[in-house]
This record gives sequence, structure tokens and C-alpha cells, in this order.
Amino acid sequence: MIDVTLITGDGIGPEIADATRRCIDATGAEINWETAEAGVDVMERLGTPLPEATLESVRKNGVALKAPITTPVGTGFRSINVYLRQELDLYACLRPCKSYPGVRSRYSDIDLVVVRENTEDLYAGIEFEKGADDTTELVGWLNEHSDRKIGPNAGVSIKPISVEGTERIVNFAFKYAEKMGRKKVTSVHKANIMKYSDGLWLEVSREVAKNYPGIEFEDRIVDNMCMQLIQKPELYDVIVLPNLYGDILSDLCAGLVGGLGVAPGANIGEKGAIFEATHGSAPKYAGLNKVNPAALILSGALMLSHLDMMDEARKLEAAVAAVIAEGKDVTYDMKADRNDPSAVGTQEMADAIIGKIKGS
Ligand code: NAD
Repeated sequence: MIDVTLITGDGIGPEIADATRRCIDATGAEINWETAEAGVDVMERLGTPLPEATLESVRKNGVALKAPITTPVGTGFRSINVYLRQELDLYACLRPCKSYPGVRSRYSDIDLVVVRENTEDLYAGIEFEKGADDTTELVGWLNEHSDRKIGPNAGVSIKPISVEGTERIVNFAFKYAEKMGRKKVTSVHKANIMKYSDGLWLEVSREVAKNYPGIEFEDRIVDNMCMQLIQKPELYDVIVLPNLYGDILSDLCAGLVGGLGVAPGANIGEKGAIFEATHGSAPKYAGLNKVNPAALILSGALMLSHLDMMDEARKLEAAVAAVIAEGKDVTYDMKADRNDPSAVGTQEMADAIIGKIKGS
């Protein structure tokens, strides 16, 4: 038995967490679930949205399946999701984007994996506000040491990209490609303009690629990559990107395959891995047994692969795909008409998936 933390979240979290746990158990995966709380509901009771016991459980087990959590507004608490990523140094964000027959989309044959660096780049949070004393000092120093001048009314965000940060994420992309039998890794950048940050990223990507001769490597400039993904998405396999481009392109790729309902994800580091859907806590649907559990269930399949339970992972994904393809026992968002009265609830869709697993 492997211990896994199940963070039930808030909003629609608890109901999709329950549906997902039932589907994973049905595959026969030997998992001992350790349920842990986080989110706005706990905050009202315990005064914190992320109890220490929850963090401790993830640290101890190293693997968590996490349902969505609302980011409390105006309470002084920052995003729990961001906090967990930083606290556990989950440097790789993994977003597979795959076409499933039955999901409405402009494309039908997409099977891409976006690997986004999670800790550096313009999202590192190193920011200087317009007019602040430290900004004036920084801009003064920069103007003294650079040919280009920054005006007094500028805010400044810093873009750090390091050799170590790039090495570990590009290695992650190649190792994932190896494990999952994928053929190619594409490194995305804007090295022609930002020579010392994206230029370093490209140089390190090329060096790391030499250690994986069995996997094809190529690079693309980010603007060209956006056009290529729209025109010829079938040419791409695993795509590795720095934080900002990764954020934007992972949504672009989710759009290629029909959006949030089927977009699983994971944040992974050396100290742990958290598997979660891309969508949020959709509070207005909380407790209604209405929303689609597929994205969290597919995140569960990613988790099973991570745990080397490959047969169970395949079984789970195939069952989700079969239920979606049939289009009968699916939630409202998967129906051509959102008001279609034949739409089923969250737990009933999970039951249909379990039926497929048992029948397989
Ligand atoms: P959201 O994804 O929660 O919901 C937007 C809309 O998408 C919903 O109103 C619903 O129409 C649809 N939707 C989302 N999930 C669905 C599902 N499983 N099935 C069917 N329809 C679904 O986005 P939001 O409203 O911007 O965010 C709500 C809260 O969730 C915010 O507090 C946000 O910070 C948080 N959030 C959390 C995570 C996370 O925990 N990883 C991720 C994104 C947003």
C-alpha cells in the first residue's frame, strides 16, 4: 500500500475528490488515502486555510491528490496553491493536453504535454513599484551601468533564469518523455531578444538534450510556437517552457483540446508531487452534484503513472475516455446543449467510469 494525501479542497472540491477516489480505488491501485483539509471552509474553523497537519501529511507521503481550493479574497491569505508549490519547491508543472473523442473541440488528434518551469522567470515575484525608494535606487544603478535608460515613472519586474533552474526542468521534460515513450522535446524561448535569460535557457536546453540521444530535440521561438500550435499541433509532443510562456501556452493547449473539463495537471518537485485539475473551485456549483469530475480523475491517472502503477493508470484513462466517447453518462458541460436533461451528476458520471473499469 502506498500512502497518498487526499486534499479535499472547498467549493466543488469535496464532491469531485470523492468521485476521483472511488474511480482510482476501482482500478485496484493499492493506495491508502490520508484525507487532509484545506481551503476557505477550514479557515472559518481553524483560522488558517492550510492547517500544518495537511502540509505535514504531504511532506510525509510525498504525493497528494488535490481538489481545487478557493483563493480567499481580502483576508490577507495568499493563494494556498502558490504557497504549496513554493513550500515544497514543486518546480515542474505538467499539463498533458489530449483530444478525447466526444469532447467538442476544433481539433481531433492532439496529444501534447506542456512542461512549465514553476519557480523562476518574471513570476519569481521580484518586483519594484513605480516611485518607491528602492525602485529609484535600482533604476539609478541600472541607468549608470546600461546603455539603455529607464524613465522615472517605470515599475520594474525582474526575470531571473538560472542554469540550475533550467537544467532541472529540461531534465524533467526528457525523463518524462523517456518514461512515457514520447519521441520529441521542444524547448521554447525568445533567445533572439533576451540573450542573457532566454539565451541561457536555450544553451542549457541544448546541453541537457545531449544526454538523451534517443529523444529528438528542437527549439522554437515562442511567438512562432503559438502560430505552429494553432496550425500544426500534431507536430509537437513534449514542450518545455520557462514560467511565463508556460503559463500562457498551457492555456492555449488546453483550449486546443476543449478546455477545462478534461485538463489534468500536476506540480512536481524532488520533495513531493501534487496532482490537480486545472480548473478552480467553481463555488456556485458547490454541493450540487453537477460538475464534471473528469479533469481530477485524469489527474489521478497522471498520479498513478507517477507512482509507476502504469496498468491502473491506463485502465483509468481508458475508462474516462470511453464514457466521454459514448456521451451518455456525462455531466451537463459535455453535452451539446448545456440544458440537456439527460446530463448526469458528478457521482453518476464517476459510477459510469467505474462500470467501464470493472468491465475492462
Ligand atoms: P473555476 O475554474 O473555478 O470556474 C469557472 C467556471 O468554469 C465555473 O463557473 C464553471 O462554469 C466552469 N467549471 C469549472 N470547473 C468545472 C467542472 N469541473 N465541471 C464543469 N464546469 C466547470 O474558475 P474561477 O471561477 O476563476 O475560480 C474560482 C476559485 O477557484 C477562485 O478562488 C480561484 O482562485 C480558485 N482556483 C483554484 C485553483 C486550484 O485550486 N488549483 C485553480 C484555479 C482557480
